[in-house]
Amino acid sequence: MIKAQERPQAAVESQAVDKVRVESKASSLVTDRDLTMVRDRVQELLATPATPDQIAAVNQQLGRFARGMVAVGARCVCGNPLAVVTRPQLEDGTPFPTTCYLTSPEAVKAVSRLEADGIMSDWNTELGSDPDLASAYCRAHELYLAFRSALAQRLSDDESHIVGISAGGMPKRVKCLHALTAQSLVMGPGVNPLGDRVLGLVRPVFDPQVCRCAQPWAEASIQENQQENQ
Ligand SMILES: [Zn+2]
Repeated sequence: MIKAQERPQAAVESQAVDKVRVESKASSLVTDRDLTMVRDRVQELLATPATPDQIAAVNQQLGRFARGMVAVGARCVCGNPLAVVTRPQLEDGTPFPTTCYLTSPEAVKAVSRLEADGIMSDWNTELGSDPDLASAYCRAHELYLAFRSALAQRLSDDESHIVGISAGGMPKRVKCLHALTAQSLVMGPGVNPLGDRVLGLVRPVFDPQVCRCAQPWAEASIQENQQENQ
């Protein structure tokens, strides 16, 4: 809800968003088709905002309150949240650049193991020597920004403090595989080449299509219902 006295500022904010959108559009890496895909995905996510049960499940996964969560961006076949979408500006006004956040404990653990194996160092070297990969990774960065801008616009959030900032080290470095994996889960395959690669590597231990949750969604819901009925 925008109060009348805040309208002039809101107008400035929406101009800032438009500028980012125009920049993304002008890039040779992100096509109009990509932008349509991004906007459709945002619309789809905002059409199904996080339910109280999902928020409770994510709070439990993280061991803390999931601030600014607008929707579950990816779910296990059992229904458990795997990654969430966070608004560009938290309720208290804090700018929040990490729009896609990995929450599944099983996924976090599998990805942490890859990081511990030192794979990021290899991939940083590869980014420096493979122009195709570097370009695809830069496109992932731009799509991340486009996704966040679309969200900001729909939610009337100010993202002027985080313009050009994505996550995980993008566009030039690989610093956090969890962030890249979350983007792949939320935005789908073909968006982030390294996030997709992580999902391929961890598939024996984590796969969105195979429930290996310590506490599958149905089971958790049934337990809650039983407690309520007691
Ligand atoms: Zn599951």
